[in-house]
Amino acid sequence: MYLILFGPPGAGKGTQALILQRELGLPQLSTGDMLRAAVAAGTELGKRCKAIMARGDLVSDEIVVGIISEHLDQPDCVKGAVFDGFPRTIAQAEALDGMLAKRGTQIDAVIELKVDDEAMVGRMETRINESGGAARADDNPETLRHRLSVYRKSTEPLLAFYRAQAKLSAVDGMAPIPQVAAEIRHALNRVSRT
Ligand code: ADP
Repeated sequence: MYLILFGPPGAGKGTQALILQRELGLPQLSTGDMLRAAVAAGTELGKRCKAIMARGDLVSDEIVVGIISEHLDQPDCVKGAVFDGFPRTIAQAEALDGMLAKRGTQIDAVIELKVDDEAMVGRMETRINESGGAARADDNPETLRHRLSVYRKSTEPLLAFYRAQAKLSAVDGMAPIPQVAAEIRHALNRVSRT
């Protein structure tokens, strides 16, 4: 099963992707984690992305589509994967549909974590405090507001894209973590029965 976890920065996509990885054995494909690893390793790609990410802007579609395509060719992704933080633009979503079609498969479900922006700023402050300072260059209130506006402008239009494909299910991302996980399981059960 190929799933997309969808929602603004701080919605809990990474947390839920890890739960799905543990429960369903689906590998988590987080473009944010992959890009941060490239930045930390100081690769050519990391150098190209570092400043863009620190500002909270999107790196190019070409870069993220390239790294996802490489991962999809690995054996652990043959039966499925959970996409976290990808796709973020219509062009990325179209490229993903193409990559999966070429491999004889498709997206089964898109789970939208519904949250409110002000609560996201609060969650981010908790994340910063818990990490004892700047764990991530882009985790500060100003950059978070910019990331939220980039989300509204470039990423939110994907909801209509996936609604048109009848793949979208919404869950309440403000609920406690185990409850969000349970709601996601229910949504996936509905998908696998249809
Ligand atoms: P968030 O917590 O904001 O959801 P991520 O960890 O998913 O953050 O991404 C961090 C940063 O990495 C983004 O602000 C962006 O610069 C870059 N990035 C991650 N995924 C993508 C993508 N699919 N397209 C473009 N840029 C991306």
